[in-house]
Amino acid sequence: MMKRRDFFRTVMAAGAGASVLNPLFALAEELQEFKAPPMPDQPVTKVTDRCYYILAKDPEPNPENHGFFSNPGIIITQKGVVVLETGSSVQIGEMVLRQIRKLTDKPVVAVINTHYHGDHWLGNHAFVQAYPDVPIYGHPAMMQKIKDGEGKFWFDFFQRLTDNAITGTVITPPNRTLKGGETLNFGDVTLKIHHYQNPDYDNKVHTESDLMVEVVEDKVIYSGDVAMRRIANASDGSFRGTIDAMQQWIRAFDGHTIIPGHGPHDGVALFKDHLTFFKTIWDDVAKYYEEGLADFEMKPKIMEEPFMKNVASKWPGYNSTLGKFIAVAVQEYENAML
Ligand SMILES: [Zn+2]
Repeated sequence: MMKRRDFFRTVMAAGAGASVLNPLFALAEELQEFKAPPMPDQPVTKVTDRCYYILAKDPEPNPENHGFFSNPGIIITQKGVVVLETGSSVQIGEMVLRQIRKLTDKPVVAVINTHYHGDHWLGNHAFVQAYPDVPIYGHPAMMQKIKDGEGKFWFDFFQRLTDNAITGTVITPPNRTLKGGETLNFGDVTLKIHHYQNPDYDNKVHTESDLMVEVVEDKVIYSGDVAMRRIANASDGSFRGTIDAMQQWIRAFDGHTIIPGHGPHDGVALFKDHLTFFKTIWDDVAKYYEEGLADFEMKPKIMEEPFMKNVASKWPGYNSTLGKFIAVAVQEYENAML
């Protein structure tokens, strides 16, 4: 990579004097100079006439997929386009914008981020570049996490795993808050915002900042990471919060289509599978903890459970992440006993 001093020398030699005199402009130019290549276009999945998403097939970020492994959502309303999740980089955000242009020429009028994990919002940068005044919504706990350094953490994480495929991305947090319970009106489309609250479990399902977006007229839920058929990072969430939330939402959203943050859409069966997965692990951890077993001793016993053998073992991340997942459950159980 070119050193900053060498860069300035190159710019001077090229005769771009004006930008060197203006440090901010020079910085913007430097970012352009080192912007990683574009994210190749990905096909859009249509769920209803108004609700779409871009399915990320890969379970993990890597250099080949440019860090694209979570699903951006697109809702086309009378008043314009609402975007759910923006991907892990400015390049992915720009790809989402290109796909939107194939569907409609309406402007993007709102962006909603479902939580603070970087694969769901680092692409915000592309949307403020295209629409400088666009409202970007997130939960107040998400804003706080980013203030505390979460943006930098995720930027570095993706740079490392993708071989710098997100270079040029500027960390762009939400600029509006949603706490859950709000209704947003976009003409023919009403969005209801859901946030799980139970102080006993620190208001956590996947994180304490989860927003779920219900498209009322279409009976569609964009659920972020509160449920998925994948073994993901559980260390920011709560097993008991997840079990409680799933039990409520399976009843509340029966007959709805669920579009998760990772993997293909389905009905409420997605919540049911997620519940069974979390409950199987939690109940076994409780039982084996009382028998004095350590987490690595629990793992083979948990893997013998029918749901694990028949269903969860086919999910991405099962072999690599299940052990860590169980360790997180043991930690939560231990803390709950204190
Ligand atoms: Zn997440």
